[in-house]
Amino acid sequence: MTIQANPEAVTVEALINGQNAKSLSQTAKENPANPSEIVGYFPVTTKEQAVEAIEAAAEAFKTWKKTDIEERVTRMRKAIEKIRAAESEIVNLLSREHGKPLYDAHGEIYVSLMWMEFACNEAAAALQADVQEHDHGKTILSYDPIGVVAAISPWNYPIALSTIKIAPALLAGNAIVLKPSPYAPLAAAKVAEIIASEFPAGVINVVHGGADVGVELTTNPRVAKIAFTGGTETAKHIIKAASDTIKDMTLELGGNDAAIFLESFDVNDERAMRRIVVSNFLTTGQICMIAKRVYVHRSIYDQFVEKYIEAANRWIRVGDPFNPETTVGPVNNVKQKDYVTGLVKDAKQRGAQVVPLGRILDQQQFDQGYYLQPTLVLGCDAHDPIVVEEQFGPTVPILPFDDVEQAIELHNESIYGLTSSVWGAEDEAIAVARQLEAGTTMINTAAVQGLDVRFPFGGFKQSGIGREYGTEGIRTYTEQHVINVPKMLDLPYIPE
Ligand code: NAD
Repeated sequence: MTIQANPEAVTVEALINGQNAKSLSQTAKENPANPSEIVGYFPVTTKEQAVEAIEAAAEAFKTWKKTDIEERVTRMRKAIEKIRAAESEIVNLLSREHGKPLYDAHGEIYVSLMWMEFACNEAAAALQADVQEHDHGKTILSYDPIGVVAAISPWNYPIALSTIKIAPALLAGNAIVLKPSPYAPLAAAKVAEIIASEFPAGVINVVHGGADVGVELTTNPRVAKIAFTGGTETAKHIIKAASDTIKDMTLELGGNDAAIFLESFDVNDERAMRRIVVSNFLTTGQICMIAKRVYVHRSIYDQFVEKYIEAANRWIRVGDPFNPETTVGPVNNVKQKDYVTGLVKDAKQRGAQVVPLGRILDQQQFDQGYYLQPTLVLGCDAHDPIVVEEQFGPTVPILPFDDVEQAIELHNESIYGLTSSVWGAEDEAIAVARQLEAGTTMINTAAVQGLDVRFPFGGFKQSGIGREYGTEGIRTYTEQHVINVPKMLDLPYIPE
């Protein structure tokens, strides 16, 4: 295979205290749709540089925390405008390095900006101190910044899952060190640089690399909070690494989200069928909150499967991310491709039927990139790995259930509890939803189609700790500080 740099190949560097840090070596980032093409280069930040970035943030924090909310919001709004102005350039880079189709890359920017705007609109109210005069005196409850935030993001939504942290952290008066994933570092770094250009030096720093750099961020005593999105297994290392210095943490982790189709669901509703297909295959299935296992009431199961295959064959067009016809691109990396391939193979060996879905637009390209044939898996056991593990790829098992209680039990026995969905008559679906252990449950839609950034997002159980989005997603970057002025200064039971 001849490796060639794309003529538009970009090089990003670490950003430390407002300056691009000189790197000793660069790593090439390939295009998952055509791995012989280099999309750009990123450095591996050294331990010394990571420490420098943390120290720059700690220094900048001393001044930044004293700024008022108006100044912070004004700066963030300017950054939003700059991102908007550079949108098509960012989208192209994201699509090329990640493998997500152009419409999907636009969608990621859309969600990122929606959240940043919301955070700007809400920050003043969310962070406003609560001053109360009461019978016992006066109390001020303020929301103080925490300090240096280490933001560690994954590859699947590299911009959205970086800005979900950057915007509230800075609005709340913290300084940040961001580490994007080495599997999609370029577009996130560009966006972080754009934001940084509107803020004082050191308030946002960016470092690059994998676990080694992550370990510095999660152990350094000057880091006060970790905002992490990624896998549950990685989070276990992070919790251990951070334990010596007891850091504040928001952890957004894996999910194995179930979609439950009740007897009252209308299998002839073509829009709903399209919605569930999209909820399974958007971003090639590589979304934490995608529907990863589908349970259908036995009375409608056969018809459901038939209609599902029709809808999937209409919507799924696997191809080049830059082809406007493409709805599903390649998988982001070889490791993920091999993992998903292994799960499907295992299901087949256990006797499941694997049904190929959709159309491959260009077989030659399919063969050269990290593409996978999208599949539906039927006839598997409720506890097969393809059902209980997070597949994070273009495959989905559909299983029948006999009564709602059984579906609820199957939903809740997972170690995860990120999102879920219930489909059917609204009241009945809401009644089932109330019994599910998940941070968000959507009715008659699923995945990002039902995401609302105005409300808190996060997981039950091993899907995470804490919440992002909503007012909670801003306050999570603060410490509550109570200033008490009691009327009675000496307590009656304390002796003279
Ligand atoms: P990952 O855990 O492999 O990596 C995430 C980030 O952590 C990367 O930047 C990585 O370099 C870094 N990292 C790796 N080891 C580290 C260590 N020991 N210390 C500190 N940092 C370390 O996850 P991924 O493969 O990039 O992303 C996929 C996972 O993320 C899936 O499990 C998915 O469900 C989850 N995810 C969750 C959400 C959510 O909101 N709950 C959103 C998106 C993705």
